[in-house]
Amino acid sequence: STTLVSEMLEEVADRFSFQLQQRKINIVIQVEPGVTSLRLDRDKIDQVLDNLVSNAIKYTGDEGAIRLEAKKLEKDTLEITVQDNGIGIPKKDLSRIFDRFYRVDKARSRNMGGTGLGLSIAREIVKAHGGSINLESELGHGTRVVFTLPIQQEEEDEL
Ligand code: ATP
Ligand code: MG
Repeated sequence: STTLVSEMLEEVADRFSFQLQQRKINIVIQVEPGVTSLRLDRDKIDQVLDNLVSNAIKYTGDEGAIRLEAKKLEKDTLEITVQDNGIGIPKKDLSRIFDRFYRVDKARSRNMGGTGLGLSIAREIVKAHGGSINLESELGHGTRVVFTLPIQQEEEDEL
């Protein structure tokens, strides 16, 4: 069966609605017209989205903003972006950010909880789906994680 992309993103936001409200973080979801349904391992992609959104919430101050975006890149690629305007990541740490157990520094992470596995798991899942994942960040300004998923050609006819 296929997953409606807009529904999938709305449901991630719903799963975090308590924390988002508590922290007064605004979440905006934007799905480009033309992005509808695709076949994917919903449990696994939810795990990717949950890891990325939980990071965006953890590392963004109160009253911050998170943006979830979906668009079609070429005919056969879906691109999903999770962006925040939080604390960002220093340049020197960017090359190791997807490594297992890597966390930026003890001081900033001490009270946040977590083991440093979220991004490495997200990358494994995306790769297993034939996609790619990239992170861009500017210290003090925010972080943007973009991942792609291939759209199987046969789905086009079904939509
Ligand atoms: P876990 O995901 O296992 O609970 P974690 O969030 O620390 O722990 P990752 O999700 O792998 O681990 O992230 C690794 C590190 O990258 C984090 O400790 C944090 O320092 C940094 N990081 C990840 N996402 C963001 C973000 N959106 N903004 C700022 N820093 C981030
Ligand atoms: Mg994490």
